[in-house]
Amino acid sequence: MEDVVKTLKVRIKKEVLTTRKKERLRRISGRDTRIIEKYVRIIHHNRRKICTKTKKGKIRVHRGKLDELTLTTSKVKEEERRKTVPHDFKKMFPYCSHNEFQECRDIAVQLYEQGYRPRSTRPPIKRARRQLINAKRFILVHLPKEKKNTLTRWWVGIRDSLDTWRRNTPYHQKLWLPLEMSTFHQKELKKGRIKSLELRYKRSTREWWVYFQLKVLPSSFYPPEEKSSSSLPPAVLGIDLGINIPAAGVLLTPKKKLTNKEIKFWHTKQWNRVNHRYKLKLSRLQRKAALNDQSGKKHHIYRFLGLLRRRYRNVKRAYNHQFISEVMQTIETYAQVYDLFVVVGYPKHVREEKGKDKSTHNFRRKLHQWNFSLVLTLLRWALILSGFEPHRILTVEERGTSSHCARCGRKVIRPVRGLVHCPSCGYTFHSDLTGAMNIARKFLGALFRPRGTTITDYLTGQRYSSTHFTVCLGLSHWLQSQ
Ligand SMILES: [Zn+2]
Repeated sequence: MEDVVKTLKVRIKKEVLTTRKKERLRRISGRDTRIIEKYVRIIHHNRRKICTKTKKGKIRVHRGKLDELTLTTSKVKEEERRKTVPHDFKKMFPYCSHNEFQECRDIAVQLYEQGYRPRSTRPPIKRARRQLINAKRFILVHLPKEKKNTLTRWWVGIRDSLDTWRRNTPYHQKLWLPLEMSTFHQKELKKGRIKSLELRYKRSTREWWVYFQLKVLPSSFYPPEEKSSSSLPPAVLGIDLGINIPAAGVLLTPKKKLTNKEIKFWHTKQWNRVNHRYKLKLSRLQRKAALNDQSGKKHHIYRFLGLLRRRYRNVKRAYNHQFISEVMQTIETYAQVYDLFVVVGYPKHVREEKGKDKSTHNFRRKLHQWNFSLVLTLLRWALILSGFEPHRILTVEERGTSSHCARCGRKVIRPVRGLVHCPSCGYTFHSDLTGAMNIARKFLGALFRPRGTTITDYLTGQRYSSTHFTVCLGLSHWLQSQ
């Protein structure tokens, strides 16, 4: 299925813009145009050095070589640094960031490759050209009706390309622009995902417009509108996979309180012991074999070793299946009472973060042997086979979920192993449960984002329309800090 790209034009409410904002808008786009023009001139001047021709006769510009002419470097090793360049852009435009230069460079290269040439007689373009801004650099915000402090309910915040300096480090402010968004626009926005936006100035009317580039998803992507088939109350089960306790789960229901019924631990106590025993045996045999190899003695240890490995693998598999069937049981009992969605944290970055200095060698080893994606895939398939729809079992990235308070979302400390304590609101909670709760909250948060018209499953990369999850909107109280 191919995605279609659509453009949606929205006018910026010029009459509400302050003079400062207008000036800022003009400066950003005007300056970018000057940089692009400069780049094109440099490319043309050095075309013998940095341009090549393809077989079809098209011109290609070598971006790295262009950088060597224009940008100094500071982030690489001392001996590899470029301290002087023939055309130092950083000196010419001191308030422009490195990324900004690279974006301008790419536009200039594109223009040049498409045949745009600067003429020696023509003065540089003063008119503001189109400004393409990719999705990372802006945010679209919709203010709810209740807030009566403003007439404009739709704002787009564009990351200012001018560096602002604070405490000797540059950062980017956001430039907030009010939008004239009609109901038609809002309907169109819901049909797709915003990929990028373009700022355009129309000279005839002297007005600024925002052109949203929408990736429209095929109509088969949306579920039919016969919702409310299930009369059960919605609930989200967050699951945090751990090391010592294989998993902990928290069920967020329309009720505002957590009781013992909504908390679940899945233990496999024997597993740790069995696992340890196998490990010990294996390493002993391996050492013995290696010693025998060194001294040139004949032995049959490898045969035993192979046997043991196979047995270990089978035992591991059996335990995995046992674990999954236990999780399945809980989920099925919950599913009888609730319209259930299961969200599992995918601990991709855990290895990098926790595998560092603080932890013991033993803990690190356990960490690397815990096969997350296998367990997750098995669980997913088990659920789907038992009649769950695929969008009801989702994975989200786990980063930061166990280090923030489940109540107020601030950073927590760990006074004792297994407990987290929040210094700002004084809440103390089990660390794995905090993780599970935050995973569920992260999923809910993604639903409430104004841009979030789709939810992506982290494990499979599959996207689901947020219309699947409309029932979950009744759980919004879990997002507020209590
Ligand atoms: Zn707190």
